[in-house]
Amino acid sequence: MKVLVLNSGSSSIKYQLFETHDWAVRAHGAVARIGEALSEFKESWVDADGTRQTQHVERAIPSHRAGIDHIIASLRTNRVIGDISELAAIGHRVVHGGEHFKSPTIVDEAVVAAIRAVTPLAPLHNPANLEGIEVTRRLFPQVPSVAVFDTAFHQTMPRTAYRYALPEWLYLEHRIRRYGFHGTSHHYVAKRAAAMLGKPLEDCHLITLHLGNGASATAIRDGNSVDTSMGLTPLEGLVMGTRSGDLDPAILFYLAKNLGLEMTAIEDLLNRQSGLLGICGVNDMREIDRMAEDGDDRAELAIGITAHRIKKYIGAYYAELGRLDAIVFTGGIGENSMEIRCRACEGLETLGIKIDDRSNFCGEHRGERCISTPESQVRVLVIPTNEELEIAQQAFDATVGVARATQ
Ligand code: ADP
Repeated sequence: MKVLVLNSGSSSIKYQLFETHDWAVRAHGAVARIGEALSEFKESWVDADGTRQTQHVERAIPSHRAGIDHIIASLRTNRVIGDISELAAIGHRVVHGGEHFKSPTIVDEAVVAAIRAVTPLAPLHNPANLEGIEVTRRLFPQVPSVAVFDTAFHQTMPRTAYRYALPEWLYLEHRIRRYGFHGTSHHYVAKRAAAMLGKPLEDCHLITLHLGNGASATAIRDGNSVDTSMGLTPLEGLVMGTRSGDLDPAILFYLAKNLGLEMTAIEDLLNRQSGLLGICGVNDMREIDRMAEDGDDRAELAIGITAHRIKKYIGAYYAELGRLDAIVFTGGIGENSMEIRCRACEGLETLGIKIDDRSNFCGEHRGERCISTPESQVRVLVIPTNEELEIAQQAFDATVGVARATQ
């Protein structure tokens, strides 16, 4: 059997097709610029002889329905799937599940309505995710569509961690609380970390750091998320590519009152013009590393603020957890930037955290690895994330679970 994973954005659909017997990727690709005059379709697949093939076409793809049609037609033409009945499930990434969804869920009408109900909490993401779900349910009603939520892993947080110090009615009537995101990634790397530590996830105390364009830290006690840095939206917490992360909320009033900025302008400023981009004019960490090496002071500051913020969260979450087995770095920056890893853990030797410089210098080694010294009480791990695989396996497990329950 196979599982198709779809990540539907506002103008794009990314996909991966997995074999369930060994979880190998048979095909992956993306439709981009949906609705524009010329959309882009990229695909890579393994043919019957085991040879990897690629294609890249530009043509009009007016809607998500047309995009998904195109993906399935191409998978069939390239003989990656014969019949649609080979699909055990279609896993959909859904950004916000609110408080309603604590695990992967097979989608029916009630689930669609519940996802729609939390759309005000993720107005940019949930409508596009829903669009993908509705299309696959219409086109392939015989294949279970499974929603896998970015927020679900964090639903184990205690209320002391998820409630803000705001008037109670804002929570009771409007569900304003911390939800957290990147849950699929934090969960995936936590499971891999447990395997590397050689103990069950249920016994692990971890701090997982997902550092990509978006970035978040999670405290994991006995395998469960007990705190995370993103909040009601993905704007809170660490310094990100273009998002500010934590700041004094009074800055918003200041911008409105003294600079006369409208709310939409402030939203844009904090989401798209801040973070690394705001500090040094560039949001690509590779470029920032190069600039800093060439002596650019703003690039140096961007790295410094980013690492400082990560270190603050490590300290806070260590205190929350009391005991720590490992810190895990993942995401494009976490997996690749030895500078950020080094600076975030610098000076933490008294907490039992000591990075080995040679292991931290990744060279050609890009896989899962331990970068702490043998004496370091807390292991520091680098684990490439694989959100698509996690979605595929969770979607498959959800359908197998239902099949078992109905036997
Ligand atoms: P997204 O959140 O969009 O999935 P990624 O996880 O791909 O993002 O991370 C993107 C970030 O990772 C960018 O800032 C990019 O510069 C950074 N990155 C990727 N490769 C490297 C590298 N070799 N060294 C430093 N940073 C890197």
